[in-house]
Amino acid sequence: MSLIAITDVRKSFGQNEVLKGIDIDVERGEVIAIIGKSGSGKSTLLRCINGLETIDAGSIAVGRAQLLPGEAALRALRLKVGMIFQQFNLFPHLTAGRNVMLSQMVVKKTPKVQAEAVARKMLERVGLAEKFDAYPDELSGGQQQRVAIARALAMEPMALLCDEITSALDPELVSEVLAVVKELVAEGMTLLMVTHEMRFARDVCSRVVFMHQGRVHEIGPPEHVFANPKTPELRQFLGV
Ligand code: ADP
Ligand code: MG
Repeated sequence: MSLIAITDVRKSFGQNEVLKGIDIDVERGEVIAIIGKSGSGKSTLLRCINGLETIDAGSIAVGRAQLLPGEAALRALRLKVGMIFQQFNLFPHLTAGRNVMLSQMVVKKTPKVQAEAVARKMLERVGLAEKFDAYPDELSGGQQQRVAIARALAMEPMALLCDEITSALDPELVSEVLAVVKELVAEGMTLLMVTHEMRFARDVCSRVVFMHQGRVHEIGPPEHVFANPKTPELRQFLGV
């Protein structure tokens, strides 16, 4: 059984149909890159999977939790998938450690002592063990994004959704964040990531989804999608 089953998902904002019937099955441990032009619906798809948006038709199942049209964001769904954004969205008045502790305590009702232990472990996992007491403005963009990853991991998600998580970073900080993602992949984490890092997608991902105008226009292993694009739209996007 797939870990995430996305079946004929449709989503409109007013008259604007942004997702026009999306079908993707994600197996446990798969790493899927989602590529495509701005406005093709990539972020909306991730937000639907995370239950941040309702869907108009179709279904999204994560493990045993299922999201159907009309249902408000399912708490169960949101607990199962972590999401990391382009903007790190850390609370500026809280230390890195507190940022990682907070959602555990608020959402999962984890006792403080335990939340702190998990936060220390997760910060260590992203290479920031010594930054527990640092405030976000004392950290580089790359470090802040790694804190955001630690915060997502602290919730023990079944899968992680990453939406252009390196796009706001200075170029020299991109690789430290991608290195953390690579480690998660090596540990078997299931990942869906919207990314412009084509080399990373080629080297690390099991499959690549090319979205175009609200549809999955091409999907396949990176060696097919990148080396042998079938449609003019993908060829144009890749510039080949
Ligand atoms: P991408 O991430 O591929 O750039 P998005 O999913 O962000 O694409 O956006 C797809 C389309 O949906 C765009 O036309 C965008 O303007 C529209 N859209 C996204 N979110 C909203 C919203 N909350 N309200 C209205 N329109 C939206
Ligand atoms: Mg987007």
